[in-house]
Amino acid sequence: MTDTRDFAGLKALVTGGASGIGRATAELLTARGAQVAVLDLDPSSVDKPLLGYQADVSDDTSVRQAVAAAVADLGGLDVLVNNAGIGAQGTVEDNDDAQWHRVLDVNVLGMVRTARAALPHLRESTHAAIVNTCSIAATAGLPQRALYSASKGAVLSLTLAMAADHVREGIRVNCVNPGTADTPWVGRLLDAAADPAAERAALEARQPTGRLVSAPEVAGAIAYLASPLSGATTGTALAVDGGMQGLRLRPV
Ligand code: NAD
Repeated sequence: MTDTRDFAGLKALVTGGASGIGRATAELLTARGAQVAVLDLDPSSVDKPLLGYQADVSDDTSVRQAVAAAVADLGGLDVLVNNAGIGAQGTVEDNDDAQWHRVLDVNVLGMVRTARAALPHLRESTHAAIVNTCSIAATAGLPQRALYSASKGAVLSLTLAMAADHVREGIRVNCVNPGTADTPWVGRLLDAAADPAAERAALEARQPTGRLVSAPEVAGAIAYLASPLSGATTGTALAVDGGMQGLRLRPV
């Protein structure tokens, strides 16, 4: 897969690209010929050929400056991967207003800010695509994830609305819905659990495949939706969840 050069000549920006799903996506797009800029709170681990830019997606000025710098260095923009996001656990009784505002600010408005800064540049591209990292939490009704699920439900609706708004401009907008993916984020969650091994086993059992999704598997779906190969696809959510949403099997 990685020896195809279907991104040759294309320029991509990946938010939250220093870790996990974003990092795997930045590396895959690079391997397939794209020039890739990473926007992250902490881009210190980002090495050439990736270009790293520090920005906080909850700060509009910071996003506009980083996107402008990245587009100037890349010499244009064809692909925006809106991936930066944070988690939250608990029921509606467990998170206060400040926590709700913070998670919605990063997970939803963060994507809005980056898209707003990127759209004028994407209009100049003949292969423009936006891919948002949503989640199975947008559609699955997961316990103990009220705030996070609401934020990803908004990302799903935002994806559909943006796809409608920009289709006649030649800009496709899609999202991926990962199930639990083996990233540093999930590693941190497991480390915080009373019994990390039991918690991992429970997460694995929840997925029909019996294992967590890998970050490169999510990156592969993002790359497909960003590539000219999916030129007729817009307003779609692609599940990358080990069958969690689509299958009606008991977990193996
Ligand atoms: P991760 O923590 O490994 O990586 C997230 C990256 O985003 C980090 O590099 C972090 O610095 C960056 N980031 C966080 N807040 C930011 C901000 N305000 N501004 C700029 N950058 C910021 O996490 P991951 O598991 O790779 O998750 C990436 C995306 O995938 C998120 O949107 C998450 O909701 C989504 N997702 C993850 C899973 C999973 O199980 N890991 C499942 C479904 C969806």
